[in-house]
Amino acid sequence: MISPSVAACAVSSPAESATGGSAPCADTGGEAEQGALDCLRRREPFFWANPGWRPAADCLSHLPFSAADIAEAEARWGRCAPLLAELFPELKTTAGVIESPLLEVPSMARRLLPRGGRLLLKADHALPVAGSIKARGGLYAVLHFAEKVALENGVLRDERDDYRKLAGPAARALFAGYALSVGSTGNLGLSIGIAGAALGFQVSVHMSMEAREWKKERLRRRGVRVVEHASDYTAACVVARAEAAANPRLHFVDDENSVELFLGYACAVPRLRRQLETAGVTVDAGRPLFLHLPCGVGGGPGGIAFAARNVFGDAAHAVFVEPVEAPCMLLGMLTGRHSDISVYSLGLGLKTDADGLAVSTPSRFVGQLMVPLLSGCCTLEDEAMYRHLHELYEGAGIEVEPSAAAGCGAIPLLLETDAGRAYLAAHGLGEDALAQATHIVWTTGGSFVPAEQHGRYRDHARRLASARGA
Ligand SMILES: *Cc1c(COP(=O)(O)O)cnc(C)c1O
Repeated sequence: MISPSVAACAVSSPAESATGGSAPCADTGGEAEQGALDCLRRREPFFWANPGWRPAADCLSHLPFSAADIAEAEARWGRCAPLLAELFPELKTTAGVIESPLLEVPSMARRLLPRGGRLLLKADHALPVAGSIKARGGLYAVLHFAEKVALENGVLRDERDDYRKLAGPAARALFAGYALSVGSTGNLGLSIGIAGAALGFQVSVHMSMEAREWKKERLRRRGVRVVEHASDYTAACVVARAEAAANPRLHFVDDENSVELFLGYACAVPRLRRQLETAGVTVDAGRPLFLHLPCGVGGGPGGIAFAARNVFGDAAHAVFVEPVEAPCMLLGMLTGRHSDISVYSLGLGLKTDADGLAVSTPSRFVGQLMVPLLSGCCTLEDEAMYRHLHELYEGAGIEVEPSAAAGCGAIPLLLETDAGRAYLAAHGLGEDALAQATHIVWTTGGSFVPAEQHGRYRDHARRLASARGA
């Protein structure tokens, strides 16, 4: 059995490694955990190889979810597609399918993969309806609830009924008697609010302190109640969850525990497989697929990592990326304490512009599920995210938000650090395999960012670059 539990962390940012950055920790066992904790405390970007990783043949059949759950979720998306095309004019041309393209970005490929391999951008920043990866999980969770209520109340006869009825008067009258709520750092609220309001639910979005004003304003214009919290995401969820517990007609979409969100995200992968086939990409042991996934509470990247190990087996390598100020999933998995430990305990403070990733405690259920599935996690400074954000704009005209640029930063940490190389070696991935590899950078949000806000992001990126003397 492969055991990549070596070298907890090594070298600071790859930019520094070229100029002789320090290699603070490279131990095993408990020392590795201590070393990684030190890297986290020092806010040092690093790659952590997950020691719990297991071959698909040993772990998939023991998990609480299977390929059948993904297939069921795909079938639900299929049933709802005619409804989505009716509710959202932007989905007419795709007959109600919400999907993003796979993009070649040569400038980024040259920069991040100078020694070969293929880089593709999974452009979820451009997903219709919600403008972020939350168009997968969030919309799916709302559709799941609407279907359930409609079936229970006879608005839908059965699953073969015409789901466009959910946009009709009987459904609207029914849904008006129900409310949805959610806690969010911004994007999840946007997706639940947009989808919920389109179906006629009353929606309350509990926004944590980092949520951007334009996201709140966009929701208010649709009649969504926006509750502003001066606290972080976890605390906003506590309030929202308590409110829902007292009201049987209020359904709380619980990002920290939601199977629906998780499976909604998972459906991205069977579609990705078809896109890769169309792009002429073969994935197998000698031609690995790396997925670089920005991680907040974990549902989005977790659903994708789970499905990727199901679909591609051990040829898929999923890496999560978190801000150095909010490495909640890394900390939870490293210590095995998941949602019982917060990044505040290390003296970190969520001071990051990556608002989509500014989470202090991870989803326990996702963290536990990731133990055998995930290759590793890495941490990134905001400055690196801004550098990639700027490069995506300059090199390809792509506008993403800081969180969504984080995936780019995982590639150098995987390929250029001792811990990353040790992971690759432990999996038998030498230069040949890396030259045949495909790296998917998942850009998770940004197309709804107002132009002047994106201009401010770029200005900030330039200021950071010149302050650094680049
Ligand atoms: C929500 C979000 C993520 C991460 O998803 P989680 O399910 O919270 O881990 C990544 N990027 C962006 C832009 C997001 O909005």
